[in-house]
Amino acid sequence: MTTADPMEDVEAALAAMPREAREELVRQWWKAATAPPPPQPALSLFPPPQFPYGPRHPDAGAVRWNCPLGCGWWHEENPGRELPGPLRLPAGLTSEDVSEAVSRQAQERSEALRQRVEDAITEHYGTAHPGLEPGDVRPGS
Ligand SMILES: [Zn+2]
Repeated sequence: MTTADPMEDVEAALAAMPREAREELVRQWWKAATAPPPPQPALSLFPPPQFPYGPRHPDAGAVRWNCPLGCGWWHEENPGRELPGPLRLPAGLTSEDVSEAVSRQAQERSEALRQRVEDAITEHYGTAHPGLEPGDVRPGS
């Protein structure tokens, strides 16, 4: 089945499908078309985080970002130690409100952490590697 208009082929193929399969296909298309874009790598300029402590260490759960230039400096965060803070919920809340508030709070905490790491690395570059920017490589390497 080939026609000049490719949409006619699609329509013909859809019409020939069992109803449930057609509905499932439309659901999947809709899901794909309305899905949010994939998250951007939030720390793209930064070195990949390390998890320097084992599960029994008092600082287990800490995340460490080493200086990309390998000078020995690092910045550490322990997200598990932070209290999440109060949820902001509307009066007459529904389960969707709770879910949305939890997601929003997680997003805000994640953004705050990203900002702290970015600030720490930027400040470190300013003091230890003046003239270089995060993302630069060490001259000569
Ligand atoms: Zn450094």
